[in-house]
Amino acid sequence: MQQMEVIDIKAIREQFPVLHQQVHGKPLVYLDNAATTQKPASVIEALVAYYKNDNANIHRGIHTLAERATMAFETTRDEVRQFIGARHREEVIFTRGTTEGINLIAATIGKQRVRKGDEILVSAMEHHSNMVPWQMLATEKEATLKIIPINEAGELDIQAFHSLLSEKTKIVSVVHASNALGTVNPIQHITEAAHQVGAIVVVDGAQSASHLDINVEEWKLDFFVFSGHKIYGPTGIGVMYGRKELLLEMPPYMGGGEMIGEVRYDGFTTNELPYKFEAGTPNIADTIALAESIRFINKIGKESIRAHEDDLLQYATERLLQFPEIKLIGTAKNKVSICSFIVEGVHHQDLGILLDQAGIAIRTGHHCTMPLMHRMGLKGTSRASFAIYNTREEIDALELALKKSIKMLK
Ligand code: PMP
Repeated sequence: MQQMEVIDIKAIREQFPVLHQQVHGKPLVYLDNAATTQKPASVIEALVAYYKNDNANIHRGIHTLAERATMAFETTRDEVRQFIGARHREEVIFTRGTTEGINLIAATIGKQRVRKGDEILVSAMEHHSNMVPWQMLATEKEATLKIIPINEAGELDIQAFHSLLSEKTKIVSVVHASNALGTVNPIQHITEAAHQVGAIVVVDGAQSASHLDINVEEWKLDFFVFSGHKIYGPTGIGVMYGRKELLLEMPPYMGGGEMIGEVRYDGFTTNELPYKFEAGTPNIADTIALAESIRFINKIGKESIRAHEDDLLQYATERLLQFPEIKLIGTAKNKVSICSFIVEGVHHQDLGILLDQAGIAIRTGHHCTMPLMHRMGLKGTSRASFAIYNTREEIDALELALKKSIKMLK
């Protein structure tokens, strides 16, 4: 594999201070990257540097610190624009994360577009944050939430999706890559079909933004949301991309400072984009540090990241399939580096605890996809998820610890 020779994983690991520690006397093996990724020193240093040198409120100040902080904050917007292939910088709206982005969309254009009797389409593999906001909207508007089914491998049933689409469909909101199964969904195909019936398309990019190339303009997406903390960036900062024509017609989400043009006792006008959707003092430090996480990814390149992570996924899949008592959950042809599995006769939580004793961090439970677990007849799974800094040796450590743990628990 070409890229494998080019990227120096050891050098990449050196950039992540947290990885170099022992847990319960064992070297930490961090395989919970779908929950949150670790942060390189450049991201941590950007946070510290802002508070040490530049701390000031942005946009309104004319003093030097305010100008420096504003410049750094707005530079992140430019980095994000490039990162997701948006046409305009004002299409990049900063949020707290994926969850806030989807709630924003549901509470603004969702309320505008969805009427009694209309339909909203989501898939059977959605995270709660791409399910509950639409349930809330459907209840309020007396609309119906329809579920695109999946097959046993955890892939969308595209034929069923087409037959669910109609002129009643106002919103199609789907996950790009599933956090519970790893499945990568055919976003371009879905978007094209949804647009044919006049629906708007929302894509939950929480699990795809760090692994896959994103091009919102080329894919003609209406909305794309993701979280900084899953792309090697800080918590508390995320992005909602919205197509400019739609953002212009949408009402604001929160009211307050920054989002206004003029305020009188009897009303207000809204500010221009993107500020119309950024009420109040934003999360300045984390936004500035987010630019560093994007630079970190760009420096390695998505292609190299994908190649390395695909290798890890394939290797881990092979290792897990050696166990007769392990069943993989999510065997789609197109996956990001997420391995969900169940162990016959072993509760996932017990397994998670024993693996932690071996220094191995995985996630166990329903992964905020309770309806999906229900659909698959499961209470939960164990999930190992890989990032650019993970290695085959760590997967070997997982395999060994799994052997020992299963023996103890059976
Ligand atoms: N969607 C998916 C697919 C996710 O994996 C997550 C995080 N687990 C979210 C949405 C929610 O992201 P956040 O908690 O950062 O808002």
